[in-house]
Amino acid sequence: MRFAVLGSGSQGNGTLIASDDTCVLVDCGFSLRETERRLALLGVAPGQLNAIVVTHEHADHVHGVGLLARRYNLPVYLSRGTLRGMRKPVEAAGFLAGDERLQVGSLSITAVAVAHDAQEPLQYVFSDGHRRLGVLTDLGSYDDRLLAHYQDLDALLIEANHCRDLLARGHYPYFLKQRVGGDLGHLNNHQAARLVAELGWHKLQHLVLAHLSSKNNQPQLARQCFVDALGCDPGWLQVANQDSGLDWREIARPI
Ligand SMILES: [Zn+2]
Ligand SMILES: [Zn+2]
Repeated sequence: MRFAVLGSGSQGNGTLIASDDTCVLVDCGFSLRETERRLALLGVAPGQLNAIVVTHEHADHVHGVGLLARRYNLPVYLSRGTLRGMRKPVEAAGFLAGDERLQVGSLSITAVAVAHDAQEPLQYVFSDGHRRLGVLTDLGSYDDRLLAHYQDLDALLIEANHCRDLLARGHYPYFLKQRVGGDLGHLNNHQAARLVAELGWHKLQHLVLAHLSSKNNQPQLARQCFVDALGCDPGWLQVANQDSGLDWREIARPI
């Protein structure tokens, strides 16, 4: 099982998860041309994708979904609320809700409802029966139900959106600071690191920090929060960035 990131941040998101002959794209926040370019860099032809799974209707996650799906005839799965919230609706191949499971080829995909200011936002846990990868961005808070879904992972891509202090001192208008930092906004570095500490991280082969704000965060600040909370090697932490994403990472089968 392996994964790669096309790009991560408020300008566009896309994550690939692959196992055997199955390849799924989570979100597509880039233009069609930019998506094709980024997929090519990762060695994937758009027609090879088996499905697009959408987390929520914010433009950085859905901007390119409709065009990509229509051009390459790809099935799209999302929540009913997400479809309702999309400015340019797509044809849904199927609907998902929290706690529901979808099988696409060799990948089992579990939808997890999250607290975010969208209609019916979901995040996902992927499994090929042997390994588990969690994708978790765009949430402002979490509870025990969410933690239960993200137990026992072999790899985790998690949002470390902002530094509390940079957000407080920065130039965002007050309402936006409240939104981003609120319970329906985005996880800050400390919250994300604490979440991973609560889950336990010693089994993780990969821990990828994602959806970093370009204005209210810096990779070294995010890393430091995780190092402080987990006591892990800073070199082990990975950051998926906006421009170059993250190259393929293999998740080995646990012994
Ligand atoms: Zn987002
Ligand atoms: Zn969002």
